[in-house]
Formats: sequence, structure tokens, C-alpha cells
Amino acid sequence: MSEYNEDEFLMISGIQHFKFCRRQWALIHIEQQWAENVHTVIGELMHEKAHDPYLTEKRRDVLITRAMPVSSRTLGVSGECDIVEFHQCEDGVKLFGHRGLYEIFPVEYKKGKPKLDEEDILQLTAQAMCLEEMFSTSIASGAVYYGETRRRENVAFTDDLRRQVKDMFAEMHQYYDRRYTPKVKWSKACNACSLKDICLPKIGKSGSVRTYIAKTLKEEDT
Ligand code: SF4
Repeated sequence: MSEYNEDEFLMISGIQHFKFCRRQWALIHIEQQWAENVHTVIGELMHEKAHDPYLTEKRRDVLITRAMPVSSRTLGVSGECDIVEFHQCEDGVKLFGHRGLYEIFPVEYKKGKPKLDEEDILQLTAQAMCLEEMFSTSIASGAVYYGETRRRENVAFTDDLRRQVKDMFAEMHQYYDRRYTPKVKWSKACNACSLKDICLPKIGKSGSVRTYIAKTLKEEDT
């Protein structure tokens, strides 16, 4: 099985953007380096959270780790898990410095959105797949916690979800290698997209924001 090097890793959280719109993902993750306004929007889109430094606490039979860095060489991605719980059990993994065996249970925190959506599910599945690779174990389920309802919605990591995650990251790597921003048709989703002013799919036959902004700057100069 081929593996990616660390310098080829893409961000796990990008899968949310990719699921929403492949072009949005490319605008953020491929073209970000040159468009100042994109940087501003990235901050909002990534809803940066003030993470505690990577630390672990123990509550009864559960070890809770926050902001844990995770990665996968087979998927070629890296990122951070909001919470990883290690539940003591009879059949699990050994953890350095702790007695017993543990089952791994990732939890992703979302501020609002009381309804479990596909973007959240895919992101959590991707995190679980990274943890499986790191700990050489299998993880059956995890949860998304929604701040608005203060509820955990459990997610079972099915074969279908795993396949979607694998296929999406493979497609992202192909786009990234070619530095290609896919063109997509204007849809209802565009109205809710924070990048719509930058994306301009209605105008952009060129398909490249770089070309569009370069052209605009040239026009302003003349
Ligand atoms: S405006 Fe529409 S096509 Fe452009 S990035 Fe947003 S969702 Fe995608």
C-alpha cells in the first residue's frame, strides 16, 4: 500500500469543505496562499477553537485527551481531535503509562447545529481512521457533540463512511498535486457560502480565482 510523506499531508478538517463544495475546498486549501481576503474567510470557516494544550484527565474508567494531534500516512492527512476518550475495557489497546486496556472513542465538538450532518460525520470518521492507524486498532463508533443542544450524537463508522473518506482524500490529493481548482455549477448552496464573492462561479469561465483577481487588479491599474 502506498503511503504519503508528511509534507504531502492535507488537513483533515478540509473534508467538511470538500463535502460541501469541491471548489470551496480548493479555494481554501489550494489557493489560500495568495488571496488576502481568503485568509480572512478561512478563519471564519475553520471556526478556530481555543484549544487547551494537549492534555489528559481521568474520570473513573475513562481517560480524556483534548486537542490530540492525529495523522494517517495511508490517507495522507493530519489534524487534531477535539476530544479522544479512552474507555477502559477487556479488549482494547495498551496505553503508555496506564494500566489496563482501552477502547478509543473520538468526540468532535460543534458549537451550534443541533442536527447531525454529513460533513461532521465524515470529519469524525476521518479522525477515527487516523486513530486506528496510529494505535493499530479498530474503532467502531464515536460522537459529535452539539453545543446548542448539549447532546452527543453517536456515529457508527460503517464501511460506506470509510470508503467515502478514502475516496474524498484521494480526490483531494489529485487536485492538490495539480494545483487544480475544480469548476462547479452555481447551486443553492452558493447562497450560504462565505466564499461566494471570491468564487464568482457565474462569471468565472476561467475557473481560477487567481486569474480573476489578476485581471481585476490589471483593470484597476489602467
Ligand atoms: S460560491 Fe458556490 S461554487 Fe463557489 S465555492 Fe461557494 S458553494 Fe462552491
